[in-house]
Amino acid sequence: MSRHVAPCCKQTSDEAPNAIASIQVDDSLSLGRIAGIKVGLNWSLLLVVVLIAWSLASGSFPSEVPGRSVGWYWVAGLVAAILFIASLLAHELAHSLVAQRLGVRVDGITLWLFGGISRLSGEANSRRLDIVGQARASEWCIEIR
Ligand SMILES: [Zn+2]
Repeated sequence: MSRHVAPCCKQTSDEAPNAIASIQVDDSLSLGRIAGIKVGLNWSLLLVVVLIAWSLASGSFPSEVPGRSVGWYWVAGLVAAILFIASLLAHELAHSLVAQRLGVRVDGITLWLFGGISRLSGEANSRRLDIVGQARASEWCIEIR
């Protein structure tokens, strides 16, 4: 049985490969389970953390809050990057919890370079999932731009 996964807000199942993108992103680091859902990070997420921290520590923070040490700016940049990742995780958890509530099995969430992936499998026992899936597809298009 093959598993198909796709970027945030576009779900796939074992039976219906995604027409937009079918990619495989593995967990490099496991964060355990949240609400029973396995959560992992891909190494590529480190690039996002470094870019956000560097951007804030070298540009935005020194101009907005002058007079602090370089270390202070970097710590603040790292904290901001971690908060960003936490919000991304909350976003994916919301998708997965809704899917679970609609009877879809959630195999896990992986955060990576381009956002998050919720790995869903099986068939929903409700037509409501079609509506959720369409909303997620629209969101994916908005997020990718
Ligand atoms: Zn989403």
